[in-house]
Formats: sequence, structure tokens, C-alpha cells
Amino acid sequence: MSGFDERIAAGLRVRIDRTLCVGFGDCIKEAPEGFKLDGDGVAVFVDPDAVERDRLLRACDACPVDAISVWDTDGRQLVPTSA
Ligand code: SF4
Repeated sequence: MSGFDERIAAGLRVRIDRTLCVGFGDCIKEAPEGFKLDGDGVAVFVDPDAVERDRLLRACDACPVDAISVWDTDGRQLVPTSA
């Protein structure tokens, strides 16, 4: 798998940067249907469409190293949020 894994789910474009993920699992705690750790201890998608939009956003925003980015259908970046 390349450095990025990307999905469209709940009307959002979600991208995991696998080079940044350190496997803390915060995203998985928030949305276990959406993410899991693979054999390398790095986050991959499970079924992000099974997660409602608000929780999916929370799960992505929970990443302590900003390894997950989210855009809406207009291409506006929602996660990570700029401080
Ligand atoms: S919260 Fe971030 S660092 Fe932790 S498993 Fe998910 S993507 Fe990886």
C-alpha cells in the first residue's frame, strides 16, 4: 500500500497519511467501524460509510499527529482544523 489511503464516505473525502500515523488508535476508539490498525500498526479503513458524518469527523480530528485529513464535497478542508 502506498503512503496514502483515501475514501469517500458520508459525503467526505477522508485521507489517511500512513507515513504520519503512529498507531495510537484514537481514531479507532472513536469510530471502530471506520478504522483499524493493520499488521504494521498503521491505521487503515474498515467501513467509514458505516459511521455517521459527525462521528467520522470527530474520529479524524482525534488524531494527535494530524495523520487524517478530511475535505467536504466543495474541497474545503475540515480536518485538521486550523487553530
Ligand atoms: S489516531 Fe492518527 S495516529 Fe492514531 S491510529 Fe488513527 S491515524 Fe494513526
